[in-house]
Amino acid sequence: MGMGMSHEAEGAGAIYFAFRGRNLLVLTDSVAGPRLPDEAGWTALALAPLRINEVGEGLSVRGMVVELAESVEAPAGAAFHGLRGLHGVLDDELYRMAGRAVQVMEWDRSHLFCSRCGTAAERVEGELAKRCPACGKTDYPRITPAVIVRIESGDGSRVLLARGPQFAPGVYSTIAGFVEPGESLEEAVAREVREEVGVEVAEIRYFGSQPWPYPHSLMVGFTARYAGGELRLQESEVEDAKWFGVDDMPLVSPPLSIARVLIDDWVRSRGGDPATLRAFDGSGIRRPE
Ligand SMILES: [Zn+2]
Repeated sequence: MGMGMSHEAEGAGAIYFAFRGRNLLVLTDSVAGPRLPDEAGWTALALAPLRINEVGEGLSVRGMVVELAESVEAPAGAAFHGLRGLHGVLDDELYRMAGRAVQVMEWDRSHLFCSRCGTAAERVEGELAKRCPACGKTDYPRITPAVIVRIESGDGSRVLLARGPQFAPGVYSTIAGFVEPGESLEEAVAREVREEVGVEVAEIRYFGSQPWPYPHSLMVGFTARYAGGELRLQESEVEDAKWFGVDDMPLVSPPLSIARVLIDDWVRSRGGDPATLRAFDGSGIRRPE
C-alpha cells in the first residue's frame, strides 16, 4: 500500500476530503449539487486542519484527507454530511475514495503514539504506516474482516434471511459477523450461521467483498447451501429468521450494501427481478461494527 509522497507541493491538483468527526465537508454553492473542494477551493475555505494525510495512490485522482476539530463550523457555501447520505450524490470513484479517506484519518488520529511503548509515532515515508522512533514497532491501518453469507435451501428455491432487533421494521437480510482470531473466512461463515440461526451450511463459496468504513471493516461475501439442522435463533442477535421464496420476499437492505447485491443475485438466479424488491431507507440497518 505505497503512499508515494509527491515532489509537487503537498495537495497540488488534489481533491480534499475534510472530515469533522465522520462527516465530510462538501461545497454546496453549485446548482449541480454537492461537490468536493479542489486545492483552490480548499484554500479559499481558510479552515485550520488538525492533520492532513494523502489518501493514497492507485486512484485516478489525488486525494488529501483533512481532520478538522469538532468545533469547526461549516463556512458559507459548505456543509458537513454523513458519508452514507452521499452515496449516489458524489461520483462513484470519489465516494470510494471518501470511504478510504475516512479510514486513513481514523487510523492516523487513533495511532498518535506507539501501541507498545507510548512514544509519539512517526509517519513512514512512502507507506501508510507509522513507526516508533524508540522501540521500532510499525503500525499499519487496521482493517477488520467480517463475513456475510447468503444461505439457499437444498433445492435452491428459498433463501434464509434474518433480522436483528435493531433492524428497521420488516427488514430481513443476510447473516453477517466478525472473523475471530485463528479462523479462516469459511470457518467464520459456518460458525456465525450456527450461532445465529442454529443450522449447518455446506458449499461455502466466495462471492465478492466490499469495504465498509464504519469504522474499518471489510465485508467478505459468501454463498452457502443449507446442510441440516432446525432453525434455532440466538436471542440477543436474531429476532427472527425465515425461508423466503422469490415471490414472497420481505423488505431488504438498501442497494448500497453487499447484502443487497447477494440478495439481488439470488433473485435473478430464480428468474425474478431485483427491481421489484422493496428496500427500507436503511438508516436503521445494523452492521457488525
Ligand atoms: Zn514504541
